[in-house]
Amino acid sequence: MASIEMSHIVKQYGDGFPAVNDVSLDIADGEFMILVGPSGCGKSTLLRMIVGLEDITSGDMVIGGDRVNDKAPRDRNLSMVFQNYALYPHLSVFENIAFPLRLAKVPDGEVKKRVEEAAGVLELKEHLERKPANLSGGQRQRVAMGRAIVRSADAFLFDEPLSNLDAKLRGQMRTEIARLQRRLGITTVYVTHDQTEAMTLGDRVCVLRKGVIQQVASPRELYEQPVNLFVAGFIGSPPMNFLPASVEGTSLSTPFGTVELGAERAEKVKGHDLLLVGIRPEYFEDASLVDEAKKPHGTTFSARVDVTEWLGDAQYAYIPYEAPAEIAEQLKALSRELDSDQLRTQAVVSIDSTSRIREGREAEFWLDTRKVHVFDPKTGENLT
Ligand code: ATP
Repeated sequence: MASIEMSHIVKQYGDGFPAVNDVSLDIADGEFMILVGPSGCGKSTLLRMIVGLEDITSGDMVIGGDRVNDKAPRDRNLSMVFQNYALYPHLSVFENIAFPLRLAKVPDGEVKKRVEEAAGVLELKEHLERKPANLSGGQRQRVAMGRAIVRSADAFLFDEPLSNLDAKLRGQMRTEIARLQRRLGITTVYVTHDQTEAMTLGDRVCVLRKGVIQQVASPRELYEQPVNLFVAGFIGSPPMNFLPASVEGTSLSTPFGTVELGAERAEKVKGHDLLLVGIRPEYFEDASLVDEAKKPHGTTFSARVDVTEWLGDAQYAYIPYEAPAEIAEQLKALSRELDSDQLRTQAVVSIDSTSRIREGREAEFWLDTRKVHVFDPKTGENLT
């Protein structure tokens, strides 16, 4: 087992801006770290630099205390599980798992012992004589992991291992990978663009954008305290609503009424006139279902419900709002950080499935203003 320490890692392909730009990240021994971000953010390149499949332009890569920048992949003792599993179709499950041991000329008896051990952990014992073609997608995935386990590698590296599977199997495999990683306690780095995988699998999540780390935190912290607009908008489904707000003393004037900030938060927004408030869909509730005792901690407003979506355990309602045109224009001009489609003219709210709200009708909603985030539209920074 080993820790992975990256210090000021840069990857430059050609002349453009770097694919990985000054990344410093320490992954503890036994930790499950997720690298997540949109397509092209540099997550695969970073993973490939850890494993040694890509040269490092500058910076230090230290694994288990050794600087490995100039070490070949085979000398790094890491196991990589690829998207397509890279199984040998003509070999049995046993021989697929045994493959790295055969390469290392491990004696037959030892091979048998280690393959059977791995197959036990992965519940593949009954399938050892089968060929990969006769396995389900999930079983194939486990064979690929078995091959990684038998080597007793220092760390597992996964590059989008579930992206070829259907949604149900993906869910099952996600649980299986999480369980296996906890059981083995092996340092794991896992690349995905899927925020559900990122939020459910890792001890910590590293969010990348254009080669630059945005935030490294536990899934919960990322969700509750995103450092900027990008992270706030990337994590969460349906996504956080961003609304224009103007500062008036210690409160904010928003399309859904006044958000009282209190002295501490008001101090943090001092000097700004125009801001963006970030409201997760579940910060709203159907006002008729809110305890009276709780109501003073938020604001109640009335809005017309455009569309509802009933999901069984919750329902989403889309409520249009009007932001003064000049404010919307000013924000667009100011905010390079906000994609134009993020400043929508409707908010999505997630409320209790028992709510009686109806499409096309007015309804009263309650917003928990204690939870609202406030962003600087210019820098994207979360001010609260
Ligand atoms: P995806 O989810 O689409 O795989 P990613 O976040 O893994 O994306 P990378 O594959 O690491 O992103 O790519 C990061 C950037 O580096 C992209 O702009 C990509 O075009 C560029 N890039 C990757 N490999 C090469 C290469 N061999 N030569 C030149 N540019 C490359």
